[in-house]
Amino acid sequence: MSNTNIKVAKFGGSSLADAASIERVCGIVESDPARRVVVVSAPGKRSSDDAKVTDMLMAAAEQALSESAAAVDLAPIVARYAEIQAGLRLDPAMTIAIERDLVQRLALADGDPRRFMDSMKAAGEDNNARLVAAALQARGLQADYVNPQDAGMVLGGDYGNGYVLPETYANLASLASRSAIAVFPGFFGYTAGGDVITFPRGGSDITGAILAAAVKADVYENFTDVDSVCAADPRIVPQAAPIPELTYAEMRELAYGGFGVFHDEALEPAVRAQVPVQIKNSRHPDLPGTVLLPVRAHNEDEVVGIASDEGFCMLFVSKYLMNRELGFGRRLLEILEQEGVPFEHMPSGIDSLSLILRESSFDATTESRVLERVRAELGADEAYADRGLALIMVVGEGMRFHVGIAARATRALAAAGANIEMINQGATEISMMFGVKVGDCAAAVKSLYTEFFPE
Ligand code: ASP
Repeated sequence: MSNTNIKVAKFGGSSLADAASIERVCGIVESDPARRVVVVSAPGKRSSDDAKVTDMLMAAAEQALSESAAAVDLAPIVARYAEIQAGLRLDPAMTIAIERDLVQRLALADGDPRRFMDSMKAAGEDNNARLVAAALQARGLQADYVNPQDAGMVLGGDYGNGYVLPETYANLASLASRSAIAVFPGFFGYTAGGDVITFPRGGSDITGAILAAAVKADVYENFTDVDSVCAADPRIVPQAAPIPELTYAEMRELAYGGFGVFHDEALEPAVRAQVPVQIKNSRHPDLPGTVLLPVRAHNEDEVVGIASDEGFCMLFVSKYLMNRELGFGRRLLEILEQEGVPFEHMPSGIDSLSLILRESSFDATTESRVLERVRAELGADEAYADRGLALIMVVGEGMRFHVGIAARATRALAAAGANIEMINQGATEISMMFGVKVGDCAAAVKSLYTEFFPE
């Protein structure tokens, strides 16, 4: 069979939290014969005060390690699966098999604790994939659970932080030629030695992206609980318009700027293979959602989105005649490297350099050590850190072809009364970055939105 017309459909935990949601997911899979690879997360929260099955499994594993495996009560976890199995009228033997599987995993508590933890975490998606495959079969569809080890999902890296090994892509390519729908559990694979190893949290998105690349999918559908990506954070701009299409480069800038709907790292395999990614809502599958593409046709829209993120600070260093001092920048960055502080951006003047850092990697002790070294080793005239900074990214490929975007943006920031602490525009000209005080951020985003997305 040729591998044209194949979609990899990944469903997140909120789309698979209970029997009714899984029923809906099965309807989505059934409605399009191209959906031949289905990637599932573990059951997520049924309501805002509910627990995700992955969190329950991790708590159980922690209890087994700190007390004993015998102290762990698996009943609440088994109950989550039992409710799904019963709600979908699947064979009760499935619940018994899931309980047996969890008991077997718990028995690994005596071995390497990290290996044990990963095996417990992986149980969430592994058992859910078995239930989803059975639910599809119950609708009369040809569908099978696919074990990641049998399929060749080989990972390297560390427990809890696996990464895909290159041979995996060739191993998984044959899934494209199966006649049955492959139901693949997300979030984990196996080491070459046969141990379960998980991706970082939220890693089912990575599994989906790997599969999309491996089978050369026409599209990687990522079903979640929002209708589409919006042009600004709806918590700040409730009326923010949906974005129909974004290029990968725009997506990367917006994700960096704090758009949480997609995870730029997780999508890497699909982006590298140039597979379009479609973000959709499993509750409203007929809506078009947002498509991420290598290039997009309508890139005359100068600004596609405005992202903002807090938690930054600026390390400011000045020294008279700095521009003539060979190696100043290198020595400054070396100090940060030695102190284990990554830098995000480096806007500069003639006699000054500002480094934008994440506050999370620059605590007060590190700050005083770095400042002391900068003064002593570099002879800086001035060195200080300014905390409480938010970064606002104004993003759009079309910006390159329009004059005056910066003028409009700075006018909007002035109208909001937001003082610009820093401006940065990359050479690619697809985004403009503004640093403002956290307290000014929301008003600044609202004002920018009104400027670039007039009603
Ligand atoms: N279930 C895992 C988590 O909660 C992975 C995922 O859902 O993507 O992190």
